[in-house]
Amino acid sequence: MQSVLNTAKLLRRSVTIKNHGFRQIACLASLPETHQMLQKACRDFANSELIPQAAKHDREHLYPEKQIREMGKLGLMAVAIPEEFGGSGLDYLAYSIAMEEISRGCASSSVIMSVNNSLYLGPLNSYGTQKQKEIWIPHYTNGEKIGCFALSEPDNGSDAGAASAIAVEKSDRYVLNGTKMWITNGFEASAALVFATTDKSLKHKGISAFLIPKSIKGFSVGKKEDKLGIRASSTCQLIFEDCEIPKENILGKPGNGFKIAMQTLDAGRIGIASQALGIAQASLELAIDYAQKRKSFGKPIAKLQIIQQKLADMALSVESSRLLTWRASWLKDNGKSYTKEAAMAKLAASEAATFCSHQCIQVLGGMGYVSDMAAERYYRDARITEIYEGTSEIQRLVIAGQVLKEYLA
Ligand SMILES: Cc1cc2nc3c(=O)[nH]c(=O)nc-3n(C[C@H](O)[C@H](O)[C@H](O)COP(=O)(O)OP(=O)(O)OC[C@H]3O[C@@H](n4cnc5c(N)ncnc54)[C@H](O)[C@@H]3O)c2cc1C
Repeated sequence: MQSVLNTAKLLRRSVTIKNHGFRQIACLASLPETHQMLQKACRDFANSELIPQAAKHDREHLYPEKQIREMGKLGLMAVAIPEEFGGSGLDYLAYSIAMEEISRGCASSSVIMSVNNSLYLGPLNSYGTQKQKEIWIPHYTNGEKIGCFALSEPDNGSDAGAASAIAVEKSDRYVLNGTKMWITNGFEASAALVFATTDKSLKHKGISAFLIPKSIKGFSVGKKEDKLGIRASSTCQLIFEDCEIPKENILGKPGNGFKIAMQTLDAGRIGIASQALGIAQASLELAIDYAQKRKSFGKPIAKLQIIQQKLADMALSVESSRLLTWRASWLKDNGKSYTKEAAMAKLAASEAATFCSHQCIQVLGGMGYVSDMAAERYYRDARITEIYEGTSEIQRLVIAGQVLKEYLA
């Protein structure tokens, strides 16, 4: 463990890799040294601290508090946040690599990490004033506190621009009323980035983003969902009743909320693609391991061509979606447009996770279907990656919109 911490300290001092071309990062062997070290540190951490506890946390719906604090100490709760605010000061490729390795160990821990990194701290870092950053970032970088992102509502998920939570301007504050639904980290979070309509006549251009502490009067947490997968993370309703929010808590300008939400989700999708990759990779590793050990008709099933074909297809889907994910990270790190590539990465990786976890169960036969083995958890965890931060249908809409725009340009 100490060596992991030392590596993390080293990572905090590391240089950024902005000048590395895509060709250099395209294959695992040529990842920059910093990123290889991060990958190894996260893999070691997942092996020793996450994998042994993941099944219990999943079964009992237990929030992995100790693990999240450790991840905070390692700098994993704020990978791409500048060091001056307590982050690790690394780039998005590093974030993607860390997310994959943590997800390989425990997808519940990684969604908690992903929401804090890319949906709470990410927009604060991009749109916050210096003062907002000083107030709302520091305790959220080290695992002491976590944040959440509240866009979805009971009646609006994919159609996020139709927000019906309303914030009415009243002298130096806004009065917020409404309910947010499906909010990851909602139960444990100390602060929420909440999207609400401040001018209904402007539709999605009338949505604003608010930084809201859990302790504020009129803010309560509603029902905690009982989910198929990622069961150690909380998913809750957030309820706002005449909740008075000072104007200085608006992130960006009034009316910029929808743009902030969409740009945040572009970046967030790289994180979810990485989460899906971790689940797919774990499924592939388990299938390979089992196929070597399990004998049928007198020989290991790994020797059967039909099993080899499954392993080959799984490996292909993992590696191709990893390339898409790293490419999207590289584009973001180099200040280039990455909306299409992030959507492609999320779409490909989430489908890879579903495919690989399904195939993993098939390779394991009956053992894949029982909770003694991790395969059935991978299968349940994989499913959400095709739904949150934009369903697969929405990713296809985003990709089609971008390719049509490119064609017409
Ligand atoms: C476990 C979990 C955690 C979540 N965490 C968060 C969170 O932290 N913060 C947050 O704000 N939200 C969160 N969400 C919400 C999530 O982002 C939404 O569930 C998702 O965007 C889909 O919205 P919906 O459930 O309302 O489905 P709907 O929008 O009702 O969609 C239903 C179906 O219709 C399809 N569909 C809808 N519109 C179109 C269209 N225009 N074209 C084609 N197909 C379409 C969808 O793809 C889907 O198949 C979470 C959800 C879950 C389940």
